[in-house]
Order: sequence, then structure tokens, then C-alpha cells
Amino acid sequence: MPAPPKKSDKPGQYSMARKLLLLLAILVIATVASMTWPQADSRTQVPTGLVLLLPHADARQHTITQAWLDAAHEEGLPISTMTDDEFIRLQASGQPMAGVILPDTVHPNASDLLVNTLYQFVEGGGQLMVNFDAALFQLHHKHYAADESRLSTLVGVRYALYSHLQDDTLHSGPVFASREGERQLAIQPGKLDFEDDAPDSWGELTTYAYDHLVYDHFRTAPWWAAAAPGLLRTRDARADPPAPTHVPLGAGSGSLRTWVKSEQGDVIVSSHAHGQGQVLFANLPLGYLKTRTDSYLLHRMLSFFGTHMAHLPRLAATPNATGGMVLNLHVDSSFAQKPLDDLEKSGWFDNGPYSIHVTAGPHAHHEGDRLGLNIPQNPWMQAFLKRQHDKGHEVGNHGGWTHNVFGNEADEHNRSRFEPYLVRNHDSIRDAIGQEPVVYSAPMGNQPTWATQWLHERGFKAFYTTADTGLGATRSYISGQPSPYSKMWNFPISNFKRIATVDELEQFGLEEDEIRDFIVALFAHVSEEHLVRLFYFHPATTPQYFKTMKALQEQAQLLQIQKVFRWYRMAELSDFMNRRATVKWQVHDQQDQRQLQARSQDTLDSMTWLIPTRSAKDLRITQGQGRIERQEHHWLVSAGPGQTLGVAWTHQAPGERP
Ligand SMILES: [Zn+2]
Repeated sequence: MPAPPKKSDKPGQYSMARKLLLLLAILVIATVASMTWPQADSRTQVPTGLVLLLPHADARQHTITQAWLDAAHEEGLPISTMTDDEFIRLQASGQPMAGVILPDTVHPNASDLLVNTLYQFVEGGGQLMVNFDAALFQLHHKHYAADESRLSTLVGVRYALYSHLQDDTLHSGPVFASREGERQLAIQPGKLDFEDDAPDSWGELTTYAYDHLVYDHFRTAPWWAAAAPGLLRTRDARADPPAPTHVPLGAGSGSLRTWVKSEQGDVIVSSHAHGQGQVLFANLPLGYLKTRTDSYLLHRMLSFFGTHMAHLPRLAATPNATGGMVLNLHVDSSFAQKPLDDLEKSGWFDNGPYSIHVTAGPHAHHEGDRLGLNIPQNPWMQAFLKRQHDKGHEVGNHGGWTHNVFGNEADEHNRSRFEPYLVRNHDSIRDAIGQEPVVYSAPMGNQPTWATQWLHERGFKAFYTTADTGLGATRSYISGQPSPYSKMWNFPISNFKRIATVDELEQFGLEEDEIRDFIVALFAHVSEEHLVRLFYFHPATTPQYFKTMKALQEQAQLLQIQKVFRWYRMAELSDFMNRRATVKWQVHDQQDQRQLQARSQDTLDSMTWLIPTRSAKDLRITQGQGRIERQEHHWLVSAGPGQTLGVAWTHQAPGERP
């Protein structure tokens, strides 16, 4: 029984008013951050990794900074923060840096000296990621520093054309990725809605339960737009776009590649070669969006930047970097019992393990309807759950005791009424399987803050979520703030365009073949990209979707034979992610030799680093136990038991573009 997600925030919304509030927030933060970056004189000590550039040390405490760092850590990339002053100083001393990021929202101000240093950095071969409003304002002022972004020539796109466009400087609308964008950024099946199979078609970025994701972005023009008046349609026909002022004309436009664009053709995501280096541009407030439950593009772009542009190793978010799926069954009414029986008799539960979540009360839609599974009085279901538990499937809570009553009526203010629903549900499942459930999914996606707190107090390890669709295990931000329950991992649904599972097909006029193809493609994607994603469905509807049920298992078996896929339970992956979060690791360069050093208080067993084959050769383990395997695009370096691992290789940054 799916329902639109109850999100406190609409994804993709961003207002200038909010931005100003955020700016003010930066100014009033008084805490002094502890910076770990060494001084310029200790050159050999400086680790190689991504650098998140901040205007000053206080910005380290900002929620948006935290969102960027969290996303990088979840993607397994080495990252540290650096202030503008430190960056300028280290550039002057010739310190190499793998990749530099100018984040959105926290970095609107920039001195001309910083802007010039960024140009020198890229011209000398540096990899730079520029985001949205970064470096648009003068230092210490809240107005645009120039007629267009001073970084326009670096980015290869003219944007932030405030003096020309005034109120039309920003625009809102859906965004569309090209096939090349889909491939380069490794965007997963289901996220993009292509109208047809044509190789030149563009697919709209989608999420579950929204007709359109609406993103604020800057209107853009090619850098040569001044030579072609009218390219920008403006209200003021007298004002043609100004000629670029900051850097001489002639700096290449031919090397611009646009991967995501707006309906009007504004550049949303692009890569641009400039000098010896390259610039990745996101014309969206990616960090801000992560704090509003819309993380997908931030994660994809960071991963692309870190791996394909900065050529850094990444720590896989899966044990041994084996991709796979969490299959989450929502068993929420008595209509599920017969299909479960049939699935079991057909041998369907002999595969897996799956994650089976149950609503346990006697009623489902409303009190008194007797459409619930009534677990305490239902010996067949009790025995079924015990059998699946004993087989290794994960049995958890789907709320909520009375599915729709909890789903529709629980809110931030009625904990005293609805907490007993959670307790009764929990106790019934525990009594059936003889163990405390530790995984959860909210009926209709409705999870008030107190319910999350209750899960935390009860030692739950993970829950399903309709926020941050398309990500693997993550820690979703709630109302703009990081979750205070850091050990509990959230498992977002994998949206198929605007739906999340099979029983919504009819409502959207889709054929079953479409979601079957989606599943086949998604499973192939998680295998190739070494990821875990979640797909969920309601067993009550399976008799109608036999082809899908069959495809799920057949595709899994096919990939399992190739040893590139496995089924995951939420709890084991949550344990893995917590263990992964304790791993401290760094990369250091000495001439062409690159060293990766990892250590943990816990065992490093099954932690796996992916190192791009294009830039690494002669890999060897220098400390601890590990296994090296060469695949097509990556070396896989898996740690054995032990608390330390050292790996060394010869690093050669490839000259050609990604
Ligand atoms: Zn449900």
C-alpha cells in the first residue's frame, strides 16, 4: 500500500531568500573549527585527496559543508577541507592536489586573488568542481562581483548574468540528462525518463511521487554568446549579454560537454577542458539539496569527480565490493497470506536472503475491518515468519499495527497515541521469530521524528525510506539537519521514474514489461558499479506480477553465477557501514609512487578499495593482509583480517579526458 512520501521538504526547491538566510547563518557561527591541514612547509605530509574549499575555518561547521563531507564519505572518497588562504598559499608553494571543490551555499564570496589562483590551478593541470553560487560575490559583500561569474571562462559557460538578466538570473524547472551524461555519471536505471530509445534523446531526472523535480539554476549562455545577440531571451531586449570581461576570448568552447540541461537549454551539468586541466560544473545547489532529501546528483557527481577526474581510489560501500540488492517485502494485510504461501511452495524463499517486514495487527485500512494479518492470533503466519527467519531471511516491522491508520494519522504531535502501535507490532513479530526485530519500514512512508527516535532507543539498525531515492545505505538529513542517530542507516527506494514498485504500474499507465526491464537493468547496474540498492514490493499483489517475480530471481541467479551479485539484508549492511565508518585511510604521493594506508580499531576484513586501472599499475600490498584483483575498470584491493593495510602503486594521471 504505497502512498506518496511524507517529506517535510520538497526536493529541488531553493530560494534566494533561503540562501540569504544561510549566508547570515554562516556569519553568526562563532565556533572555531579545528583544521587538520598542515602548513605549507610540510609538503610531503599533505595527503592526496579531494579538497573542499571553504571561505574560512568557521564554515567547517556549516550544515552544507557537513552534507558535502558526508556524501564524499558515503561514496568512499578521501576528502578534507581547506580554507581559501591555505589553498592560495599551498598553490604558491607548488603543492599538488588531486581535485578541488568549490561547494554551493557556503562559498558565495571570493577574492579576485582566489579566482586568479583557481585559473592558474586549472591551467596547470588541476581538476576543479564548481558548484552553483560558489565564488559569485565579492569578498565581504553580498552582491555579484562582475557582470557574470568570474569563473565563466573556466567553466566554459556564461552564468550568473545578473547585470543583464536581473530577476531572470535564476530559473526553475526540470532537468534532463543526455545518454552520455547518463553513462559518464553512471546514473542508475529508473532515474531518467527518456521519451524514446533514440541515442540523442534526453531523459528527465525523476523521483518517486513527484510529477516533476523542479530545480533552481542560473540561466546560462555559451561563452561566445556576446557575438550572437538574442541567444538569451530576456525581458529587456535592449540589453544583449555582455562580452566576457574576466578572461580573454578564445579560451576553448569546443571542449565543453553538456551532460545535463534545463528545458530552455541552460547548462546544468558540464565538463570543460581548460588549459591542462578540467572543470566539472554543477549549476544546482547540490549540498543544499542533500539537506532536503534530494542527494542523488551530489553523490553521482562527487563519485565521477573523485574517480574519473581526480583518479582517486574509493572505498566500496559493499563488503568485498560485491554489488547486490536488498529485496524488501512489505507484508501489510491479510491479502498477502495466500500469495506468500504460493511463493513459498514454488521455492521462491529458497533464494535470498530477503528483508520481510510485517504489519501485525488484526486490522489494516481502519479499525475493525479485520483485514490485518493479526499475527498474535495467526498460527500459520507465526510459523511462516519463523521458517523464513530460520532460513536466514530478515524479518522486521512494517510499522504500525494498523497499516493505514498509522500511515495516515501518526504525526509529530501524537506519539502517546501511536507509540503503543509500534510496541504491539514489535512484540508480535519478536514473539513469532524469537528475536527482536532490528529493521523497519514505515507504513505509507510515514515516519514522524519520534518514531525514528523510538527505533534508535530500541537498538534498530536500519529502515527503508522514500527520501533520497536512488541512493544506497545513507544517513538522510531531516528538515535540513543531519540525523542525530548516526548508527541507523536509511535504505532509500530505487525509483522507476515516478513510481517505486509494481502495484503502481496501472495508475501510471505502464506495462509490466517496463518494470521487469528496469529490474534487469538495475541488477546489472549494481553489479557493475559495486553498489547495493533497495527494491520493495507487496506480496499481496504478486499473483498479478508473476513475470516481475520471476525476473527478480532469474536476473539475480544469472549474476550470482558470475559472482558479481548477492542479496543483502539491511542489518548486516548497516553493521558493515558502521564498521566502514571507523576506517581511517589516506593516500600519499611521492613522485610517481602512490601509497594508501588504512587502519581501524576493528578488523578491516572485506573493506575493498577500487583503484582506476587507467592511472595505476604495479600494485602491491606493503602492509597487512590483502588481495589484489584486476577488473576491467578497477583494481579491487580487499583487506583481509587485521587492523592495518598498506598498498602502493605507480600512479600515472592519464592525459586524455574521461
Ligand atoms: Zn505498506
